[in-house]
Amino acid sequence: MSDSEKVYGNFIDNEWKDSNKGATENVINPANGKVIAKIQKSSEEDVREAIDTARRAFDKGEWPRMMPAARAEYIMKLARILEERMKAFGEAEMSNTGKPTKQVFDYDVAYTIDNFKFFAGAARVSEGIATGEYIPDGTSMLRREPVGVVAAITPWNYPLMMVGWRAIPAIAAGNTVIVKPASYTPITTLMLADAVKEAGIPPGVFNVVTGPGRTVGEELAKNEKVDMIAFTGSNEVGKRISNLASGSVKRLSLELGGKAPFIVFEDADIDAATEGAVVGSLINNGQDCSAATRLYVHESIYEKFKKLLIEKVKKVRVGDPSDPETDLGPMISRDQLSKVKEYVELGRKEGNIILDGSDFKAGNDGFFIRPVLVETENNKARVVQEEIFGPVPVLVKFRTYDEVIDKANDVVYGLGSSVWTRDVRKAMMAARDLRFGTVWVNDHAPIPSEMPWSPMKKSGFGASTSKYSLEEFTTLKHVYVDLTGSVRKSWYYQIYGKKN
Ligand code: NDP
Repeated sequence: MSDSEKVYGNFIDNEWKDSNKGATENVINPANGKVIAKIQKSSEEDVREAIDTARRAFDKGEWPRMMPAARAEYIMKLARILEERMKAFGEAEMSNTGKPTKQVFDYDVAYTIDNFKFFAGAARVSEGIATGEYIPDGTSMLRREPVGVVAAITPWNYPLMMVGWRAIPAIAAGNTVIVKPASYTPITTLMLADAVKEAGIPPGVFNVVTGPGRTVGEELAKNEKVDMIAFTGSNEVGKRISNLASGSVKRLSLELGGKAPFIVFEDADIDAATEGAVVGSLINNGQDCSAATRLYVHESIYEKFKKLLIEKVKKVRVGDPSDPETDLGPMISRDQLSKVKEYVELGRKEGNIILDGSDFKAGNDGFFIRPVLVETENNKARVVQEEIFGPVPVLVKFRTYDEVIDKANDVVYGLGSSVWTRDVRKAMMAARDLRFGTVWVNDHAPIPSEMPWSPMKKSGFGASTSKYSLEEFTTLKHVYVDLTGSVRKSWYYQIYGKKN
């Protein structure tokens, strides 16, 4: 059987199952447009079966009741299996997303393994207020418990990594999960399910159901038996999920879109800033919520910055993802490529195109484009305000500190941002004034597993990564024990009878 004939089932209760309707859909390699596998096009009934399984595993199973150290051991085992199978996972991620080989191996898979290991260890360290007497008659203590059944709905831009951000902290904290991967990129999530079984994680703890967001995602969002949705994706879908989830009072963690500013002050190292702008704006081909999409450059260095940036972007190598020399692969899909090209045409009207790679053809049926640089004076232009999700950064000139902070903050999003300067005071002021969950100084993009990736404004709420993400997947329980042993406690008179 060739890979293109491989049909993946849903993973429910540690078993592979076909959808009850028998429908499947194709998974495509965006570098050549070829079918690489088929997945289940699941129905609502398939989703309900997975939810009942996860519910049972949470309500009656051993996983939530296990010692944190035991759960940590299973997750470490999973991380080790991933390490042993790095080649298989890396190649699968490459052929499913079109990411270049150096990115999948040295970043996506390697970083995911690090996330797994971090969450395994961090789940053993629950934090909170100390046990003690906060009123004289009794002792109060805090328990931190898992939320319950968590649905992790993930996007196509970092398929494996987003399982590491949304499902692994959930199970590390003792929840059970149903993962619904993006329909474009389900392969590594499904491969991980096999590894979950091999690691000995009990049935029902980690389930995967594939199929359209409208069917699978919406059933997860509205089903009464799901306690929490951890969603990473677009604002439009995030709002839809919030509406559906409100009917059953679910906990939500929403990581939505971004439109990161990249501010270059007059004293910045221009060589370093242009280098950072190339990687920051072209990371994952611009299909990244933290990508440096708005390059604000001080007027005194604008022309110099622009010239150097164009020179450097021209050197970026776009092509076959399996070639170790390749810097950028294709867009994820034909639709995404068309959307990005529409924004390029908009950029032509709203400003100037100063480098145009939009008609690039790679000589096959892949969804390729070369980077495009746009410049505009209009901060309200749609190319400045909206998430393009492609290699199309926009340059905007500024004159003063206050002006650039206002312009940078003038978007609905609040995820990543960066400032480039040699002046510590200016860097610290910007870190205070920028309304973004992350501010990088003289770099753009690093997110260590220990630090929170935490959105502000319409980019959502709830941290991914770090111990704060683990806390999202727990709920607090206060236990109070009377110390007086008396029949009438000192405060009972407030309700009936006399004061002692
Ligand atoms: P989408 O919002 O289109 O899809 C995300 C997930 O939601 C997919 O699994 C999708 O399924 C599912 N879905 C689609 N419609 C519904 C629905 N009606 N109900 C429930 N689930 C649904 O996002 P993309 O996959 O296009 O990812 C790109 C977006 O993700 C960008 O906006 C980006 O900024 C954001 N993102 C944010 C990150 C962050 O950390 N804040 C990180 C990475 C990405 P299907 O694939 O079947 O349509």
